[in-house]
Amino acid sequence: MALPQSRACWQQLISQSLCTPEDLALQLNVSGPEIRRVVDKYPLRINPYALELIRGGSAAVRRQFVPDPAELQPDGLSDPDPLCEAVQSPVPGLIHRYPDRVLFLVSGQCAVYCRHCMRKRQVADSETVSPDTINAGIDYISRTSSVREVILSGGDPLMIDDSRLFAILEAVGRINHVEIIRIHTRMPGMLPRRITPELTRGLARFNPLYVNIQFNHPDELTREAIEACGRLAGAGIPLGSQTVLLAGVNDNPTTMICLMRKLLAARVRPYYLHHPDPVEATAHFRVPVETGLAIVEALRGNIAGMGVPQYVIDLPGGGGKVPLQPQYVIQRSDQELTVYNFEKKRYKYPL
Ligand SMILES: *Cc1c(COP(=O)(O)O)cnc(C)c1O
Ligand code: SF4
Repeated sequence: MALPQSRACWQQLISQSLCTPEDLALQLNVSGPEIRRVVDKYPLRINPYALELIRGGSAAVRRQFVPDPAELQPDGLSDPDPLCEAVQSPVPGLIHRYPDRVLFLVSGQCAVYCRHCMRKRQVADSETVSPDTINAGIDYISRTSSVREVILSGGDPLMIDDSRLFAILEAVGRINHVEIIRIHTRMPGMLPRRITPELTRGLARFNPLYVNIQFNHPDELTREAIEACGRLAGAGIPLGSQTVLLAGVNDNPTTMICLMRKLLAARVRPYYLHHPDPVEATAHFRVPVETGLAIVEALRGNIAGMGVPQYVIDLPGGGGKVPLQPQYVIQRSDQELTVYNFEKKRYKYPL
């Protein structure tokens, strides 16, 4: 019999996840042939913690994790890999796009599968976790001296159990030219119990190590999630957030201002606001760039500069991330700039 959620450890919670069309019908009253086809094509996992948020009434969490027939609509975004990650992959599971840093995909699993995932084509593919793949990645990093930073991503790197995770971190940390390590995860918000004291202490040994967390909606900052962030921050691990701009989840200034304020209060520094990538089966999450720009404009002046993430698009073809900014400069002459401020008042600035 399943343990009550309050006592189960994180692995038990994962094993109790909702992951079939039958579970969906039973637990959330979502069913139908289309849903079945979506689940056949893209993995489904909603762990008991996330399920509780959905049952508690969070429409934003629901939209991120409950399969949607819209995923089957032909959308003109037939490319499963628009960012050409496969091409920039010198060894499987490792993406080397920028000279000084690599993305090292060490896990194909996640605590929940996001319907908007940009690596939808890959997650839940256990091949990305084979020890050979990981060794080949470590070997590549060792012989590539331009790599100063290793970003563990996936999937979710914190799906790996502590001993294997620490072994990877140790192997990477031993490489002389690697100066910092970063971990990309959704765990503090989507399975806070994963952030155990043991994990936290273990990670703190790899200082300087940064943890960037995906948080998309204020509903995700529950007391447990805030405590999980607090454990990491309390161990001296700098935390950043990466938020994906998603239609029907957070595509308005009010939600974003609330999210960024809550993140700052949880000691998580907003880092990126990602414009959604043109990935297959995610068209229903797309929003115009103007929406993102309007949100950034609303954040400026309504929250500390520390709480304003950089709004970025990731270029198709593997061109990398490019920041987008509202146009504050209205006019420019040889003598002065005409700009507007956060209250939309015009000012002149002498040059
Ligand atoms: C986003 C990304 C990085 C990290 O970029 P930062 O701007 O340093 O956060 C590294 N490699 C790839 C392939 C990426 O997509
Ligand atoms: S946690 Fe990240 S890798 Fe996993 S499904 Fe969500 S967006 Fe994709």
